[in-house]
Amino acid sequence: MISRTVTQPRRRVLWGLLVLLVLAMLGTLVWLAGRYEVTQEQSRIEHDAADAVTDIRTGLTRNVQSLQALQYADRSKVPWSQDAQVLLRERREWLRLELRDADLRVIKSIDTPFRAPVFSHFGRMANQPEVVQACGVARRQSGPGYGASTYLPQADGLGLEIMDLCLPVIVDGEIAGYTVATYALSEILINMVGPQLTRSQEVSFTESDGTRLAMHGQARRGTRVFVAKQLLDLPGHNMVLRMDSWRGAPELFPNVLTALVMAMALALVIVLVMLARDMRRRQRVELDLAEALAFRKAMEDSLVTGLRARDNQGRITYVNPAFCEMVGFEAKELIGKGIPAPYWPPEMVDEYGQRQALRLAGNAPPREGVESVFMRKNGEHFAVMIFEAPLINVVGEQTGWMGAVLDISEQRRVEEMSRASQERLQATARLATVGEMASLLSHELNQPLAAISSYATGSMNLLQDMAGQDPDLAETLSSAIQRIGQQAERAGKVIKSVHDFVRRRDQAREAVNPQALLDDVMPLIILQARKIGVRVVVQCPSDLPSVLCDRTMVEQVLLNLSRNAMQAMADDTSHKVLTLTVRLAASNATSRWMEFSVSDVGTGIADGVSEKLFTPFFTTKEEGMGLGLSLCRTVVEQHGGFLGHHPNTPRGTVFSFTLPQS
Ligand code: ADP
Repeated sequence: MISRTVTQPRRRVLWGLLVLLVLAMLGTLVWLAGRYEVTQEQSRIEHDAADAVTDIRTGLTRNVQSLQALQYADRSKVPWSQDAQVLLRERREWLRLELRDADLRVIKSIDTPFRAPVFSHFGRMANQPEVVQACGVARRQSGPGYGASTYLPQADGLGLEIMDLCLPVIVDGEIAGYTVATYALSEILINMVGPQLTRSQEVSFTESDGTRLAMHGQARRGTRVFVAKQLLDLPGHNMVLRMDSWRGAPELFPNVLTALVMAMALALVIVLVMLARDMRRRQRVELDLAEALAFRKAMEDSLVTGLRARDNQGRITYVNPAFCEMVGFEAKELIGKGIPAPYWPPEMVDEYGQRQALRLAGNAPPREGVESVFMRKNGEHFAVMIFEAPLINVVGEQTGWMGAVLDISEQRRVEEMSRASQERLQATARLATVGEMASLLSHELNQPLAAISSYATGSMNLLQDMAGQDPDLAETLSSAIQRIGQQAERAGKVIKSVHDFVRRRDQAREAVNPQALLDDVMPLIILQARKIGVRVVVQCPSDLPSVLCDRTMVEQVLLNLSRNAMQAMADDTSHKVLTLTVRLAASNATSRWMEFSVSDVGTGIADGVSEKLFTPFFTTKEEGMGLGLSLCRTVVEQHGGFLGHHPNTPRGTVFSFTLPQS
């Protein structure tokens, strides 16, 4: 917009200058054409004047020759006056012919038959000085001599301008007399100048000071008069022949040349106008185009989809802001870059290069898009969906590819999360099923366990009866049956607590001495330890306070952890030790804790396994259920404690959990 407002006045000035220049050029051309025509006219009239003078000179010379013929004719046959009369009839410019003696006295004279004798009014003597002058010249030059022209008034009030020609008559080298011919100047103009010269021009004799002596032809008056003057120098007298021509009212188109120039100028102006119109139309189209471009740019900039155009060689020719933001590169870092593109992960360059080569060979990618992985400037990889379309130019040729790129990393993350939660749900569902099964089992097992307990009690009663017969045997059997009864009762409690746990009933919390907890589970641990040759070490100070817990469930946790520890050492042939430790844990003012640890020197836990350890159904064992640790954590967390593990030194694992003190 700014550039347009700046260039507008400048363009106007340029246009104004152009129009001015064209007008100036046209004016100059017209002026030059007019001037050329004036010059032409002037030179034509100069030429005509020169022609007229030549005509007059020729006529005068011819007349002189006629007079000479008159002088030298044989007078014995035809008298002078007869020949002179014939001559006067032929030469209308002559008014009178005289034959004079050497002293200029008139011997004979004869007047033109075409007008009344011109000297009758004032007499011939009035012109004597001019005759004397002419004959003086003639005598000196022994040839024709002309006298000064004089005005001869006539009886009718008008007058004539006359001029005398004197030709000496030489006999035996001596001047015997003179022949004098009187010219009427106006008749000279009429008879000697070619009629074509006087048709539209005025021809006249003037004195050197411009006084007009005689004239012929009528010059029509116009605004422009052309004048040409030519000197007519005769022996004894000089005159000026003046020719007047005219040009009519000023013409707009004086001649064809000017008309042509004007026509061309008009054509030029029309072309200029058309050019201006074309320019204006072009400007309007330019404006529309600029607006459309700005609109498109705003659209592209507001897009969240990344746009990227590449030429047929795979060089990037265009990227929009969304694409730059996506990959973290600036547009100038991307444009002009070929293969590999800066946002390709280095490990994918080969694969992407092949894909690109395929595309350049003409294999269009599918319309529904291609999934790919790009790399941001900071090295972060992210998933994208690319939709490619061929770029076609105005003449229908393909100049490259335009790609719309969508960042689908967030979508992938959400999908991954939903997949994980789906798996968790499934696991929970399976866990719930297991819970249901456990509940059913506990219900079913209660009956046989009660029966075992009753039978044990019955057997004890019977044993008391036979105590007298063999007291030692009775004692041994009684102890064994008592144990059977206790274990059946314990099994019943375990089943009940599992049932309660599954049914989410409130567990019975009681203050239990840690040693008592260990004592309860120890017979079962030792049973398994013996089987696989493990030495069991218990580290439990006697003065420890009690813990507040669901006794049966915590015993189950201790049993599970010990069993896992022993299984981890099962294949180990070296020194196998299972250590059970109880100690006071770090406490604060509001809660005090006791820590139970189960340590082994077994295989230890691999990194990959460590993360999934507490996931239900995760197991590395063929016969394992993968529920033990998950259950243990649930139990400990229900008590507000924490179950964790860390590697044992030099080998093996330590599982430890905390319980609140009572
Ligand atoms: P299960 O014992 O049925 O496999 P658990 O949840 O008790 O299920 O244990 C899950 C997995 O944890 C075991 O399969 C085992 O790989 C690993 N594990 C548990 N305790 C230990 C230990 N003390 N040493 C090494 N691995 C162990």
